[in-house]
Amino acid sequence: MRSHSDVVIIGGGIIGSSIAYRLASEGSSVSVVERDSIGNHASGFALGLLNPTNETGNTESLNHRSFEMHKELLDVVQEESGVDAQVLTIPHIELALEESEIPDLKAEVDRIGGLPGFKARWLEPNEIRKMEPRISDDIHGGVLVEDVIMLDSYNLTLATAQAAETRGAEFVPGEATGIIYKNERAIGVNVGDSTISCDAVVLALGPWSGTASLWLDIDVPIVPQKGEIVRVEGLDPPLGLHIHGYTHGSSCSVVQKTDGAIWLAATVQDGTGFDVAPSTQAMESLSQRGMRMLPDLESHQLVLHTACMRPVTPDGDPILGKVPGRDGVFIATGTGGKGILLGPIVGRAMADLITTGETDLEIAKFGLERFSES
Ligand SMILES: Cc1cc2nc3c(=O)[nH]c(=O)nc-3n(C[C@H](O)[C@H](O)[C@H](O)COP(=O)(O)OP(=O)(O)OC[C@H]3O[C@@H](n4cnc5c(N)ncnc54)[C@H](O)[C@@H]3O)c2cc1C
Repeated sequence: MRSHSDVVIIGGGIIGSSIAYRLASEGSSVSVVERDSIGNHASGFALGLLNPTNETGNTESLNHRSFEMHKELLDVVQEESGVDAQVLTIPHIELALEESEIPDLKAEVDRIGGLPGFKARWLEPNEIRKMEPRISDDIHGGVLVEDVIMLDSYNLTLATAQAAETRGAEFVPGEATGIIYKNERAIGVNVGDSTISCDAVVLALGPWSGTASLWLDIDVPIVPQKGEIVRVEGLDPPLGLHIHGYTHGSSCSVVQKTDGAIWLAATVQDGTGFDVAPSTQAMESLSQRGMRMLPDLESHQLVLHTACMRPVTPDGDPILGKVPGRDGVFIATGTGGKGILLGPIVGRAMADLITTGETDLEIAKFGLERFSES
């Protein structure tokens, strides 16, 4: 372990690894402290969907820019790391499972079709069934979006971390237990019984970011939101689409990934704390939602059932920027259900801020100070 790095990043999920990659690419010396293993939490168990078209909130422009950055970076990080991120470029269909959804979904065709880089069109039920006869015949049409990206989020996180390593970043196993300050300026991080001195610290602790409140004397209002995914035996021939719809009171993605399994994703459970035990209730609910869209799945055996936690803020937007009142401390978290998509743009924004003190990316509204101001 180095005794000094320009920057110490706490957390080796997709966010910490993406920031490390960017900083190392720009010549900073970086240590990433990870108490578990790289991508062992949400970053390794996410669905792995990169689709910037399905959200119109405050992060919309970041989502799109990050999607473009992924397209530029995916080959690079896979080559530099030797890790295959199992990237699939596939069509997405947003299904109308109820007739009442038709007007809103038809309006989506114009919105998504107007986004740079995307084509969208309305499909009648017979056109959908012609594309994929195994989709339920009880549908009312859908929006076809060409093309979204599906990948393996664990492999992407590992690829990003290992590519950062090839560019000089160091991954340090251990638990960060505090920040060392001199005159309100961060000068190091405690890791177990050791210390790494540094000029800047980045907090990328995901759902555990609240822990950092103790190191900052400022509340970091992040809570874990549980999400479960069920994988069942795949179809033969494979399903070549990502389908999504609202049913049984919630949404569901159905996609066959390169591991051969069909993934049914995901539940959204608040108030469960740090519980990551897969639940029977979630399995039943996801199975019902999946079978509503692809009835053939009824006979498919379970392959794997996982649970992990999204880091979420009270307003649903991420926290990105410098920590107020503490020089040399930065925070990047609260990416909710979009952290895999947002990795590259968060990496660049944080590297800009740390190395130059500013960024041209629109992250000013995502500062931690917005919570103390309100
Ligand atoms: C079910 C589910 C499906 C999802 N699907 C998608 C998707 O399809 N597309 C998408 O874009 N996003 C998706 N997401 C969201 C995405 O997974 C998260 O936003 C993202 O992984 C968060 O990354 P992170 O690095 O902030 O957190 P994490 O992956 O949780 O990493 C934080 C790391 O910090 C470490 N850590 C914490 N405290 C300390 C400490 N004191 N010292 C050292 N290390 C510490 C932890 O061990 C952990 O490895 C999904 C999330 C869930 C739950």
